[in-house]
Amino acid sequence: MDRKQETTAVKRAIIQAGFDQNNLRVKHGKGTAWGWLHVYADIHHKPDCTCVIHKDAPRETCAECKTLRNECYDLIEKVAIQASERSAYAAEHIVVSLDFFEN
Ligand SMILES: [Zn+2]
Repeated sequence: MDRKQETTAVKRAIIQAGFDQNNLRVKHGKGTAWGWLHVYADIHHKPDCTCVIHKDAPRETCAECKTLRNECYDLIEKVAIQASERSAYAAEHIVVSLDFFEN
């Protein structure tokens, strides 16, 4: 499948796995990063979130949100690899980045 087909297939699969299409971006690399596929998704904190926001330091992610992020990461990675039909080697060039909504 070509790059456009791969982008579409991966995006569709991740949406089907329950992620909001408005908070999801799937992009291919350019130039020497041609074979890389980047997946960016924004996720919400857990309802019982106890993350701490420091004034001049990075957010301290609570255990519940860490678990959530790990689960989302694993699921998106798995779904993206399946949908892309990439070989194990090429699948290593799929990069998942997750961010929390700051709300
Ligand atoms: Zn939290």
